[in-house]
Amino acid sequence: MDEKLVLEKIKKSEKVAFAFLEQLVNLDSADDAKGGIADVCHSIGDFAAALGFSVEYITTPNQPTQVFCHRPNEGKKKIMFIGHADTVFKKGTAATRPFKIEGDKVYGPGVADMKGGLVTALFTIKGLLEAGWDESDFTFFICGDEELSHPHTNAVENFMKYAKGKDVCFCMEPGRENGAVVTGRKGAARPLIKVTGVASHAGTAPEKGISANLELAYKIIELQKLNNKETGTTFNVGVMKGGFMANIVSDYAECEIDIRAKTIVEAEKAIKDVQRIVETSYVSGTSSIVESNKISFMPFETTPQVKALYNLMKKEAAALDQEELKEMYSGGCSDVAWTAMVGVPSLCACGPKGFGAHTEKEYFYKDSLVERMQLLAMTIMHLKQM
Ligand SMILES: [Zn+2]
Repeated sequence: MDEKLVLEKIKKSEKVAFAFLEQLVNLDSADDAKGGIADVCHSIGDFAAALGFSVEYITTPNQPTQVFCHRPNEGKKKIMFIGHADTVFKKGTAATRPFKIEGDKVYGPGVADMKGGLVTALFTIKGLLEAGWDESDFTFFICGDEELSHPHTNAVENFMKYAKGKDVCFCMEPGRENGAVVTGRKGAARPLIKVTGVASHAGTAPEKGISANLELAYKIIELQKLNNKETGTTFNVGVMKGGFMANIVSDYAECEIDIRAKTIVEAEKAIKDVQRIVETSYVSGTSSIVESNKISFMPFETTPQVKALYNLMKKEAAALDQEELKEMYSGGCSDVAWTAMVGVPSLCACGPKGFGAHTEKEYFYKDSLVERMQLLAMTIMHLKQM
């Protein structure tokens, strides 16, 4: 197999890739633009179909579209790419600050997070196929509500279902500004604790009151104690509310907690710890319940297979004379959690290297689009070395 030909094909596709990216970026595709999310999915589906993929759209009325593309190749290494079609930018953003290339940077809403990544995946596959590469079974799955952590769809289920049995998975979130890929991420949970006490006039009958605020205060102190520097598990009570007026003993209080953990074991322990604190009454006579005390994003654990995939990619970057490929651990979550969870060696932040996701400043470095495609292509071609 002529590797040079693959690299050439990819390099030659740069202009077309940017034109395709421009189309995608200029489609608003936030939660308020579900039609735009569908349009992005259909653009990618059409592109994949032209490359010989079978394409299936997963739709439910008024909810974001998902697209599953598969190019089967019996007995060959099973490569999966994942991504999301949605952005955080409200309807109208693309009209006010459309796609543009300025100097060495590419701008526009969602250009790095992650339309650049989607284009990278497609043109990597295109380059390989056009050069005659026939040693991979390709899957590309894109969801439409990642930025909201999938409140609308069965995307999580689909990520796991489609990932099962794959040899590797590349999550096309943006590469870091220094080009690093992400080899581990914390998992998260966001429980809401609700405390009930007994209201009473604070002046005339304070003894008849049972303060929900006081109970919550004790609970918060216990929650904060769970922060563990060694394991990296964090508990942040970011929101608390309680009571109505200063002269009433508070009969209701609540707090919302953000929990992050590096391992599934730690995340499960955190859930149990919260449950225990909820079930303990520090002020007798109060009662408490908890909602959403479950892991909303699984941790992406840095397993030996993840390391092996990273090491292979790093070697390929060196062979291509690209800058040293660094790895990074992130406290933030992504859908790579689901593919990693079903045992697929996965890497995240495989998209072009950029900065400023979720802000107006968002960009990626122009040259990194082709660089990432070439890097992914070579990694795919050398997977047998893993
Ligand atoms: Zn993203």
